[in-house]
Amino acid sequence: MTEPHIPADVRAALERLWGGGHAAYVVGGSLRDTLLGRTPADWDIATSARPDALLRLFPGSHYENRFGTVSAGGLEITTFRRDHRYGDHRRPDEVTFSDSVEEDLARRDFTVNAIAWGREGESHREPSFVDPTGGRADLDARLLRAVGDPDMRFDEDALRLLRGARLAAHLEFQIEAETRAAMGRRAGLVSYLSPERIGQELRKMLGAQPPSRGLRILEETGLLEPLFPELAAQRGIPQNKIPGMDLLDHSLATLDAAARLAPGRQRLLLAALLHDVGKPETYADGHFPDHDVVGARIADAFLARLAVPRRECEAVASLVRWHMFGYEQGWSDAAIRRFLRRVGPHRVEELLLLRAADNVGSGKSPDAGHLDELRARVQAERERHAPMSLADLALDGHDLMEALGIPPGPAVGRLLERLLESVISEPDRNRREILLSDARRWASEMGLVETGAS
Ligand code: ATP
Ligand code: MG
Repeated sequence: MTEPHIPADVRAALERLWGGGHAAYVVGGSLRDTLLGRTPADWDIATSARPDALLRLFPGSHYENRFGTVSAGGLEITTFRRDHRYGDHRRPDEVTFSDSVEEDLARRDFTVNAIAWGREGESHREPSFVDPTGGRADLDARLLRAVGDPDMRFDEDALRLLRGARLAAHLEFQIEAETRAAMGRRAGLVSYLSPERIGQELRKMLGAQPPSRGLRILEETGLLEPLFPELAAQRGIPQNKIPGMDLLDHSLATLDAAARLAPGRQRLLLAALLHDVGKPETYADGHFPDHDVVGARIADAFLARLAVPRRECEAVASLVRWHMFGYEQGWSDAAIRRFLRRVGPHRVEELLLLRAADNVGSGKSPDAGHLDELRARVQAERERHAPMSLADLALDGHDLMEALGIPPGPAVGRLLERLLESVISEPDRNRREILLSDARRWASEMGLVETGAS
């Protein structure tokens, strides 16, 4: 490997640091990725310059974190540092600045992340690689290897367990045998990680191609059970879909199919991964009664635990809840609209994608079960703007209360629901006068208004 490909602005920042008499190197994931021929998202520079000197050298830069990382025009510049004592298996108790690039590299997690390219400040030698742990050889061998003693590395920071699985998945690397064995021995340390961090890593892991790769690595290294017991519980649960595949295989195949059918849709990936999460709990006599209902609850709790935003938890749980719909060609148009009403018109596209992925994960064609026809009929209902939700009604709760002279309360909601049902069956009834007269009749049947009043 010769000179790495480094963008002009990164090169200029290095020159500026060298010009100021400071050691400066490109380091970390950006160097790793560029050496692999991948395009790095962001660039990291490590330097002997102290944070206050960095702020002076790069006008307009600012502190990025409490460790003195300075952010300058999209670049992260960090003073060489040494980490001390990992009391909580997560973050260093203390960091001190250092003048040595070797020291800075020694605190990093994996050899491929512990390569630097640059030079010292005073010397005017050409920039070169500093690679004390053999990271470039591991890049060539496509091996992920912990820096130094792997047990110690994972003991210091349990997040490295997850980073390891995620990086191996993304880079399509093997995990070196000693490192892999240490991951297994230290798997229990994940209990020290904050659920948010676990959630972030899971999301990143699902960005690998195929997304199941990281989860399989977690399983092989013994991390799946302590991290995601709901997923580990799927191993060994039988499926009569693809011969030789159990429930976990089916979930992972569905996940991978979702990534192929609709790339870049995190929520769909989560739903695909979790769609059958209710099966282990409901398994009885070869069946899984109500696994959709139970699964929606488990999926919601699973994601909430990982600090996934509430809306996202609800959306995924709803996809899990409705993933068992059974379309038949005999459905009337009103049945299509009722289906849309039930699953939510805004979720139906994703639900159909989930089913397509589930089909593929079951060894069928994506559109099995006349999914293409259902998709076309859903589209037709949308195009004719058929009313499907309360917002589509030709009147709202205020109109009802005013016209009927009834007070706010649950009865208003019940009337609106009933009106919606009626217009879903007969869209032509979605006219204010018709709705009011229906509502008036029902309200009097319900004893809300006196017969003949108003
Ligand atoms: P990505 O950006 O794709 O998540 P990365 O390896 O660049 O991967 P960053 O979080 O950007 O990860 O960190 C940059 C570098 O900092 C890493 O390459 C590694 O050298 C070091 N590093 C990050 N996290 C840790 C950690 N938990 N322990 C040790 N070193 C770490
Ligand atoms: Mg990075």
